[in-house]
Amino acid sequence: MIVFDKVVKRFGDHVVLDHLDFRVERGERVALIGPSGSGKTTILRLLMTLEDANGGVIWVEGDPLTHQFKGDKLVKPSQKHLRAVRSKIGMVFQQFNLFPNMTVLENITEAPIHVLGKSKAEAAERARELLATVGLQDKEDAHPTKLSGGQQQRVAIARALAMDPDILLLDEVTSALDPELVADVLGVLRRIAETTDITMLIVTHEMGFARDVADRVLVFDQGRIVEEGDPKQIFTAPREERTRSFLKAVV
Ligand code: ATP
Repeated sequence: MIVFDKVVKRFGDHVVLDHLDFRVERGERVALIGPSGSGKTTILRLLMTLEDANGGVIWVEGDPLTHQFKGDKLVKPSQKHLRAVRSKIGMVFQQFNLFPNMTVLENITEAPIHVLGKSKAEAAERARELLATVGLQDKEDAHPTKLSGGQQQRVAIARALAMDPDILLLDEVTSALDPELVADVLGVLRRIAETTDITMLIVTHEMGFARDVADRVLVFDQGRIVEEGDPKQIFTAPREERTRSFLKAVV
């Protein structure tokens, strides 16, 4: 379970998340939608500890990611603790972020070997299974630069799954792709949603994808949740004017 408890994030004077409260249950698929700049990516970056919160507490599977008061004592999580929490979370970025000098197979096996301590053979076996899942079993020796954007993104998805995460964070994973490549990547993610119980937080501008895959949709505006509900309700009968105007602009 992921819990945000009155989380505040500021960049200088700019309040990006304003006492944000929400929770995501284990195995739930939650889409985060809303206008550009509303704080969606910042939420994922806080979970990856790529940013620190300025207030509030974030919990991942019962472990705090942030400083918190115990009585009047401020307790800071250790680096070791943060690494352990982070190892439960996989993230796929808009820009793939593959290692260009490594083959597809090396990209996928690098962290399982060096972080999880798997043997080369064990990591390669799992990587091949995952390449089959994302439809790229014939590309294990290719270098990322020789692949299309959609194929690179599917490798990035396989790489995230190779760490056996409990939680997968997806940050606008189709935004950098040509329109004809989007469907393949969304198809792979749909299959993963159907066949695993990984908790997913999905930041997306693809409303069709959010509608298909998410159990719940959170609509953000200016660092706050303005509405939440099941996809059918949000997309067919939004209650809030800000949700209606956002959907009108993107659909
Ligand atoms: P988009 O849909 O465009 O990706 P978003 O909802 O994901 O937007 P965030 O990327 O979380 O929004 O950004 C929220 C706000 O925080 C934006 O105004 C952004 O300019 C600001 N911001 C994000 N990172 C930084 C940073 N490192 N320094 C300063 N401001 C930042």
